[in-house]
Amino acid sequence: MWRGEGMSELGKALQSVAERVKQAAARRSKTLPALQPRLVAVSKTKPPEMIIEAYRQGQRDFGENYVNELVDKASNPQILESCPDIKWHFIGHLQKNNVNKLLGVPRLFMVETVDSVKLADKVNSSWQRLRAAGTQRLKVMVQLNTSGEQSKHGLSPEETVNTVRHILSQCTALHFSGLMTIGRYGYDLSEGPNPDFQMLLRWRQEVCDNLNLPLEEVELSMGMSTDFEHAVEVGATNVRVGSIIFGNREYPNSAANTPSPSPEKKAKVVSEDAAKKMAHLTVSEH
Ligand SMILES: *Cc1c(COP(=O)(O)O)cnc(C)c1O
Repeated sequence: MWRGEGMSELGKALQSVAERVKQAAARRSKTLPALQPRLVAVSKTKPPEMIIEAYRQGQRDFGENYVNELVDKASNPQILESCPDIKWHFIGHLQKNNVNKLLGVPRLFMVETVDSVKLADKVNSSWQRLRAAGTQRLKVMVQLNTSGEQSKHGLSPEETVNTVRHILSQCTALHFSGLMTIGRYGYDLSEGPNPDFQMLLRWRQEVCDNLNLPLEEVELSMGMSTDFEHAVEVGATNVRVGSIIFGNREYPNSAANTPSPSPEKKAKVVSEDAAKKMAHLTVSEH
């Protein structure tokens, strides 16, 4: 799958991450479902050329978190031509008024961020209307807010079972694929297993017990650049890795427009959050 000679920096980074995913999977407890984890390369803010290069190196799954950016990239003529088997994952916050736009994306593989019954219904009815007869159901994951932070999207974990039940029984155009979390930023793994990931595991168990689903049919999307190996070791089947593959993201003007943090707060956390907000503004403007 991986091309050996003439490999670009991007190719090397990709290969190294893929290898680390494989090794982490081999360290998993045998009590976990033996699902080969899927590596989703998160290409947000990165140009089409980098996506094409990663594809050329064998990568197939790509993640984007803003609808407009995903629409632009997925319908980019070069990507359409060079990446016939690309699989797009939507991993950002989805608003109901953007659903039709998102579902029009060519080669959309999965929406990882369904976080309410209403949104599930909207995605379901849109997919029913938009898809050609005979097309597959759309894969969706249910996003949980495992950290309880106000700023995070995702449903509160107690609603998980009912939401999944609703999708299984009412959303016939959707295929429920699993649970997703972002988790708190900057958790220190030396303090033990990431509690957000443990929470996702616990709610998968609840879903499976209550709805009579086999564990291996419910995926877990968790883990990013800083913690994907840990995530895989504890059971992630889908990791979303961006910056260590494509390099750090640049958010234009973020420094200039960041409000000065209050002295009590950790500057690092504040500036990361501000950078994310700026990214949102910047991206939704174009
Ligand atoms: C940006 C993003 C990632 C990837 O983050 P990195 O730290 O660059 O690996 C993963 N998941 C979501 C939801 C994201 O928005």
